[in-house]
Amino acid sequence: MRSVSNFAMRGLNGFAGRLSRLAGAGLAAALFFAPLTSALTAEVNIYSARKEVLIKPLLDAFTAETGIAVNLVSGKADALLQRLEREGANSPADVLLTTDAGRLVRANQAGLLQVTPTAALTAAIPAQYRDPAGAWFGLSLRARPIMYAVDRVSSAELSTYAALAGPQWAGRVCVRSSNNIYNQSMLAAFIDHQGVAKTEVWATRMVANFARKPQGGDRDQIRAVAAGECDVALANTYYLARLATSDKEADRTVAAQVAVFWPDQNGHGVHVNISGAGVTASAGNVANAIRFIEFLAGDIAQQTYAEVVNEYPVTPGVPWSDVVATWGTFKADDLNLTVLGENNAEAVRIADRAGWQ
Ligand code: FE
Repeated sequence: MRSVSNFAMRGLNGFAGRLSRLAGAGLAAALFFAPLTSALTAEVNIYSARKEVLIKPLLDAFTAETGIAVNLVSGKADALLQRLEREGANSPADVLLTTDAGRLVRANQAGLLQVTPTAALTAAIPAQYRDPAGAWFGLSLRARPIMYAVDRVSSAELSTYAALAGPQWAGRVCVRSSNNIYNQSMLAAFIDHQGVAKTEVWATRMVANFARKPQGGDRDQIRAVAAGECDVALANTYYLARLATSDKEADRTVAAQVAVFWPDQNGHGVHVNISGAGVTASAGNVANAIRFIEFLAGDIAQQTYAEVVNEYPVTPGVPWSDVVATWGTFKADDLNLTVLGENNAEAVRIADRAGWQ
């Protein structure tokens, strides 16, 4: 894998580099055509919002298996979207790899992705976790359950997301800001299930139950539960897993004080989201891009998602990591995640009106 922060070297520039190396070795005349033509096509350019520690082993395994070189640009999810928009048709990116279906839908609506349905991806990935037309594909699953303080809350007190807005939870709930797309996507799912009005009532009552003004990320909400600032939180599962498997004893102590409760098991199920990928509209290496996404949906990569980042594999049958398995099985919302993007703007308006900062 080559990690590049500035992507001037796609196509002809890469070609020129290889050519000059060969010329320097005095081999240019003999080796010019066939090998370089094939080398030129054997690469794929990835814009990735995923942590390099996760993605690098996958990229190396992909290159080892296929001989396709991977050029990686890592960045924050929203910054990468802006960059793709700015670069337009000239973007060197072939694949956008990012988190949250809401973001993938946003990229698709902005014309940044292209439809690339493949039988392999359609067969591997359940329909609710991919764009119906094939513009993006979920590659890992994350759930957003209720997490609670084991010493102050009994699981018998918990049932649904709706019930968390009840008066008995006044001053006891921690959730991050609604600026974050995780909460926007959760609200978007609730809009689909119960409409705008009920979702707004829920959001307003949740805000009234907040133990503190939203601050920090999901991991900070879990820490706040352990610290006694609040009794329950909404957070993505892998953050708890990261604390539970941390090298630091203090983190593991935090995790031990917090348990997972799967809400809405008699209703729509736990809110889930994905990380995923799509082939960019500007892609010059479409076949390699598809091959890369297919690789990420394959068993080796799915196992890595499970083991390295403690997310749920998106393809059925791949085992969960040990810590994830300790939380048990659950019913997940089977809403098609395209809805999270479609309802995003409404979700943001609801959060604003509810005063969810
Ligand atoms: Fe996250």
